[in-house]
Amino acid sequence: MDELIQKLKDIVKNSNRIVAFTGAGISSESGIPTYRGTGGLWSKYDPAIYANIDFFLRDSAYYWNFFRDERYPMLKQAKPNAAYYALVKLENLGKMYHVITQNIDGLHQIAGQSDVIELHGSTRKILCMCCGRTFSMDEIYKKLEHELPPKCSCGGNLKPSTVLFGEPLPQHALDEATLAAKNCDMFLVLGSSLVVYPAASLPEIAKREDAKLVIVNIDPTPLDDIADLVIHDSVSKVLSKVI
Ligand SMILES: [Zn+2]
Repeated sequence: MDELIQKLKDIVKNSNRIVAFTGAGISSESGIPTYRGTGGLWSKYDPAIYANIDFFLRDSAYYWNFFRDERYPMLKQAKPNAAYYALVKLENLGKMYHVITQNIDGLHQIAGQSDVIELHGSTRKILCMCCGRTFSMDEIYKKLEHELPPKCSCGGNLKPSTVLFGEPLPQHALDEATLAAKNCDMFLVLGSSLVVYPAASLPEIAKREDAKLVIVNIDPTPLDDIADLVIHDSVSKVLSKVI
């Protein structure tokens, strides 16, 4: 283990344009439950209903109940762990190029990271589907006391800025992420199983452009074979030793 940590330290030391790519494995250590698997959120709430754009557009009240009872309390409670602060430190050292995340919990920003590409949007930002006005989570939570589903002052329907099933990923975020992967000198995967698109393709792009590819994830990933370094361990444990 110590040898792997030392190897990672060396790669970080020699890199100046690091891209960190984060997935569920980094936020699960902050108390954000994973979606799939036993005990996951999707075993209690059917994603075909709770995270599907068609159902949402038909009747969003069920979603906002879920938001009030599950999502909001969980996000209010979650605090960034050591891994998030390690990445902020890299940014302060001038080594961080971009953070790309598959997560929608906004924990990178709470930790103080300034440059975060959110591939799947954020639960903390809610949009009016009519006029585009944005609301914070807290504003919506208050609205929900007397209004279900909540509405914008213009009368428009509200929607979290997250990408639901049936919706495309935001193109500008995808473009930024692809560009970051092309121009980085180290691509650091943290807590992603790299099975969902575009998670699977970004590390390959970076590798093709001669970046060092490092994967830190509890379980093996399909890209372990092409990585320069693979560590199967907890993300916060590894990063707090390295940075
Ligand atoms: Zn509006």
